[in-house]
Amino acid sequence: MNKLTVKDIDVKGKKCLVRVDFNVPMKDGVITDENRINGALPTIKYLMDNGAKVILCSHMGKPHNVFNEKIKLNKKEKKAVEALPENEREEATLAYIEKAKKDVSKFTLKPVADRLNELLNGKVTFATDTVGEDACAKVAALKEGEVVLLENLRFDAGEEGKDLEFCKKLAAFCEVYVNDAFGTAHRSHASTAAIVEYGLVKTAVCGFLIEKELTVMADSLERPVRPFIAVLGGAKVADKLNVISNLLEKCDSLIIGGGMAYTFLKAKGYEVGASLVDLEKLDYCNEMIKKAESLGKNLYLPVDTVVASSFPNPIDAEIEVDVVDATNIPADKMGLDIGPKSMELFASVIKNGKTVIWNGPMGVFENPTLAKGTIAVAKAMAEAEDATTIIGGGDSAAAVATLGFADKMSHISTGGGASLELFEGKVLPGIACLNEKE
Ligand code: AMP
Repeated sequence: MNKLTVKDIDVKGKKCLVRVDFNVPMKDGVITDENRINGALPTIKYLMDNGAKVILCSHMGKPHNVFNEKIKLNKKEKKAVEALPENEREEATLAYIEKAKKDVSKFTLKPVADRLNELLNGKVTFATDTVGEDACAKVAALKEGEVVLLENLRFDAGEEGKDLEFCKKLAAFCEVYVNDAFGTAHRSHASTAAIVEYGLVKTAVCGFLIEKELTVMADSLERPVRPFIAVLGGAKVADKLNVISNLLEKCDSLIIGGGMAYTFLKAKGYEVGASLVDLEKLDYCNEMIKKAESLGKNLYLPVDTVVASSFPNPIDAEIEVDVVDATNIPADKMGLDIGPKSMELFASVIKNGKTVIWNGPMGVFENPTLAKGTIAVAKAMAEAEDATTIIGGGDSAAAVATLGFADKMSHISTGGGASLELFEGKVLPGIACLNEKE
């Protein structure tokens, strides 16, 4: 960690624009999981206690750009409109725009501001716009130790579009930029990187959440206590090409489960039946198998697999399953989870690890019958007591939390996409832009 943190600078009396990740799950206007709010609290409290004027900003979901004059349709809507006869397109577009305006209530950060205000003893106000009149007035009125949360930045197209004018307005709010949104650190948007990249704010530091994520994950990747085991699962090989390649270089053993394992099995010449296979990636898998051999790394694939005749529909429907050898899946069956022998094998490798990182489920874990492999990996990690165990966010983090193993892990990342990019060896734009320590 060679980036400056909030502790390295003087924040007293300074206006600090803090990019946080308040993209919390909501149902009917009620926050259903406060983890992301809690994750940002240490930085916010530190700034308040040290006399900063705190301007918080975040996105929430994927709303339309309702703060712009011209509201753009999203990709799905555009496609639907294009599929219509020409004379119906205008009306359909207008209907989507009307719907977008109504959807504002689904994406507003107001409920987060209210909750934060409770947690921070009434010190928090909410601006009903991002860089408009209300935000300007509320920022100007801030006193030391007070906080304003701006409305959802993605209501303005300037956020994702890195619009210079939008960046200038955001930057005009502050003397110091703090990034504490690890979940969006892999994105280069106005508030996550561009306002610093454009040279609009000179003092740019990270908060405690990003500091922790980086310290634990980057250090484990660069200086792991060995044996270092990486566990990868999830649907497709194509989504994790660079992750597989980079982790092979860093780890001692790479375990591959989930949908992506079948492309590897097929590449080895095995029969995989109707399992998910990415034919275009067979050569890539062979390359990785060779790479593992030449580097002297262990590459573990499932030795048996849970199969069914079809994909469960709905996903959590009751399903009849069988267990077969992973080397010979019947033509009419698809592999949907790792089998019991694989669970045992993977668990024994994991338990021998001193550093274990994991991203991606071992099977269609949304279905209780097909969640056993994912549970077995989570359990093995929980039992690897003297290992540093890191969960790379996303589905694996959700699985660990549901199983009640969260407190048994060394670190559960708050960013699935961001941690995968760290695993790929990429430099995240939201971190690259921050000031380095001398
Ligand atoms: P990802 O987003 O790449 O981490 O993939 C997660 C998804 O992979 C989950 O929704 C799983 O249901 C799915 N998945 C895991 N194993 C399989 C499998 N064997 N066949 C099809 N989908 C799978």
